[in-house]
Amino acid sequence: MSLTPIRVDEIPVLEPGPMPRAFHLMTKPSGAICNLDCKYCYFLSKERLYPGSDFRMNPTLLEEYTRQYMEAQQVPEVTFAWQGGEPTLMGLDFFREAVSYQQKHKKPGMQVHNSFQTNGVLLDDDWAQFFRDKDFLIGLSVDGPAQLHDAYRVDKGGQPTFDRVMRGRAVLERNEVKFNILCTVHAANADHPLEVYRFFRDELKAEFMQFIPIVERDNDTGYQEGDGVKDRSVTAEQYGRFLSDIFDEWVRHDVGRVFVQIFDVALAAWSGNRPGLCIFEETCGAALAMEHNGDVFSCDHYVEPDYRLGNINVVPLEAMVGSQQQFEFGQHKRDSLPQYCLDCEVRFVCNGGCPKNRFIHTPDGEPGLNYLCAGYRHFFNHVRRPMEMMTAELRAGRPPANVMLSLAREQLEFEALLASTGRNDPCPCGSGLKFKRCHGRSRRN
Ligand code: SF4
Ligand code: SF4
Repeated sequence: MSLTPIRVDEIPVLEPGPMPRAFHLMTKPSGAICNLDCKYCYFLSKERLYPGSDFRMNPTLLEEYTRQYMEAQQVPEVTFAWQGGEPTLMGLDFFREAVSYQQKHKKPGMQVHNSFQTNGVLLDDDWAQFFRDKDFLIGLSVDGPAQLHDAYRVDKGGQPTFDRVMRGRAVLERNEVKFNILCTVHAANADHPLEVYRFFRDELKAEFMQFIPIVERDNDTGYQEGDGVKDRSVTAEQYGRFLSDIFDEWVRHDVGRVFVQIFDVALAAWSGNRPGLCIFEETCGAALAMEHNGDVFSCDHYVEPDYRLGNINVVPLEAMVGSQQQFEFGQHKRDSLPQYCLDCEVRFVCNGGCPKNRFIHTPDGEPGLNYLCAGYRHFFNHVRRPMEMMTAELRAGRPPANVMLSLAREQLEFEALLASTGRNDPCPCGSGLKFKRCHGRSRRN
């Protein structure tokens, strides 16, 4: 099946629906254009939606979008999220202009933030000083140490990019720019969780990390269709193990000093708060995407003709965000859950995951289960007890980092118990095996 270009003169008819008080709009000023050619990228193929375009947001549109975006928010803070493709291809002056429009159009007392996702290759001191001066939060895409990063993150000539990304990261560091690591988890790095995590923590000195699963649908369109995945995708089981292994390291050493997005999401859910990440919310629909020409889509993962709400030059942004069409898009996330999810013990934190990945069948044959289900279920069950311990600390007004002390104490007590267990006694771990066949296998007593 081939990809059909967007008909820019075709504007969908929207019915009014509920307007969220706040929403998020990921903006792609250079569309899908990128200086790299990462093999798993879901967005590069979107270039074919706009044949003949120069893929550059013009200043008039930039100002109009800035004005409408701020106007539509009913909360005192707003975040502009810049992504691509690769947004640095727009040049620094574009973002200087963006910031000046933000100052011009912000409502009285409004706080304005900017987040900026980049592959890091084009960063220099000018960029970094601008980011620091304007307090941009940078997301840097790195998939681990060189051999893991370079497996798929290559340039247009197929050459590795790790060294160039590390130069970009060094520029950020020497200019004291805040940055997060965005790491995708795929076939090449999924079996190396600790190597990846320790590299970020110890070598890159990263304090904030996200681990995004690559689930690359096997089709020619780049749309969310078909039920096969490409070989580069992580498997559900690998993803669950990857997160669990990193969690085990983190919960013993790094709570309170390293922040991993999905761990924060889990802690929020366990402590009775909203996860704060659309994937794990009960409903979605408040995280839209805008292309370089002002076309607005229901979500960054649904930049497809069927999910185009209109163009900001023709339809007010508020009307698109507050349309019945967008509302139903978000409600569908909850309303389409299979019974298997409704009965699941970790649904309160998982909520079935992102609809884009719901293309497998449940064990009893119902469609609409998330491809990553087995991984989510493993991970969320794996972290249950430490999450309960951290939640108890929070409720008592103490730092969740206390969990590290509790686990260390438990480990010491367990070691003492092992030391006093006879070879033929039941193993104290509760496995039901004799000690000599379980934890006692490597001990002589
Ligand atoms: S479709 Fe997925 S990524 Fe998009 S808003 Fe919903 S949960 Fe988030
Ligand atoms: S873990 Fe699986 S069954 Fe449970 S809510 Fe998530 S996707 Fe559904």
